[in-house]
Amino acid sequence: FRSQAAVRLGRKPVLMEVCGTHTVAVSRSGLRGLLQDALELKSGPGCPVCVTSQADIDRLIAIARLPGVTIATFGDMVRVPGSASSLEVERAAGADVRIIYSPLEAVNLAREHPEREVVLAGVGFETTAPAVALAIKEAASQGIGNFSVLSLHKTMPPVLRTLLQDKELVLDGLILPGHVCTIAGRLPFDFIATDYGIPAAVTGFEPLDILAALEVLLRQAISGQPAVANVYRRLVAEDGNARARAVLAEYFTPVEVMWRGLGSIPASGLQIAAPYRHFDAAHRFPVTPLTGSGFPGCRCGELLAGKISPPRCPLFARQCTPNHPVGPCMVSSEGACAAYYHYEHRAEVGNKPDGR
Ligand code: SF4
Repeated sequence: FRSQAAVRLGRKPVLMEVCGTHTVAVSRSGLRGLLQDALELKSGPGCPVCVTSQADIDRLIAIARLPGVTIATFGDMVRVPGSASSLEVERAAGADVRIIYSPLEAVNLAREHPEREVVLAGVGFETTAPAVALAIKEAASQGIGNFSVLSLHKTMPPVLRTLLQDKELVLDGLILPGHVCTIAGRLPFDFIATDYGIPAAVTGFEPLDILAALEVLLRQAISGQPAVANVYRRLVAEDGNARARAVLAEYFTPVEVMWRGLGSIPASGLQIAAPYRHFDAAHRFPVTPLTGSGFPGCRCGELLAGKISPPRCPLFARQCTPNHPVGPCMVSSEGACAAYYHYEHRAEVGNKPDGR
C-alpha cells in the first residue's frame, strides 16, 4: 500500500493525526518512527490545552487574581504559561487554584464554600463539554449561585475546515479523533472528503486502531476516491450520541473564538447559552488581562497548524523540556512536544538538560 500510494502521489504520503491523544499513541507505540520511511505522520490542532489562546489563558489568570475567587481546573492548565504568569505562579503568590478531576468536583467546592466564587476553567472539545454542561445543570438544580464556568471549549469540524483551506499545507489524509466522534458522530466530518477531496478515518487509540485507519487512508489515496471512513464502529455512530449533543445544544452557543496558531475561527467555540448566563464567568468577571512578552522563540502555533514537527523548534529539548516548559505543547500531556520528548527523543537522552 505504502509504495503504491507514494507512486500515485509522486512523493511520500503525508497524514495528520489530528488529536493530541492520537499524537501520544502514535509516539508511544513507535508507529511514527517505524513508518517514517514510508509515510509522514504529522501532529495537528487537537490538544485542547495547547490551542487555548494566549489571551484566554491571560484572562483566566486575571480572574484567579480577583479577591474571593477559587479557580477549579484540570491539572495541565495550571502550568501553561500565560503572557506574564501562570496559574501555578499565581497559586504560589496566594491565589486559590484547585486541581479537579471532574467538573462536578467544582460544583461541590462551590456548595462547600459559599463564601467563595468558584470558577471552573472549561477546556476541551466535544468530549469534555457535555460533562461541564451537566455540572451547570447540577449547580442550577441545587441553587448554587457561586459557581461559574469560563468556557474555553472548542469544536473540531470548524478548525479542520480552516486547516484544509491553508493552501500551503500538504495533506493526504486525516486521522480523526474517535472520542470527539463518539459525541459528534461521523457525519459532521463528511465535508473533509466532499469539499476538500481529502481522505479521513475516524479511529480509536490503540496501535491496531491507528494502523487500521492508516490502511484505509492509503487505500483511498491509491484509489483516488476520498471518503470519511469509520473504523471505530464499536463506539462511533453516524450521528454520534444524541443525548450528549442535546445537552451541548441546550447549554452552549457556537461563537467565533481565537485558536493558538490558527487565528479566529467562526463558530468554533462554545459560549454558555443565554438562559444560563449566570453561570458564565466571562459575563460575571469582565477582567482586563495583564499581558507580557509571552515566550519568544516558541513555535507552538506553527506546530498546531501542521507546519512543523517539534524537533524543528530550536528550543525543543534544550531550553524547553517537560520540567521547564516554554510553551503549552510541552506542558500538556497531550501536547506534541511533550509526546515527542517522552517517546521519540531517545537518541539524545544523555543531552536532556533535566536528566530525563
Ligand atoms: Fe513551544 Fe517548547 Fe514546543 Fe518549542 S518545544 S514549540 S518552545 S512548547
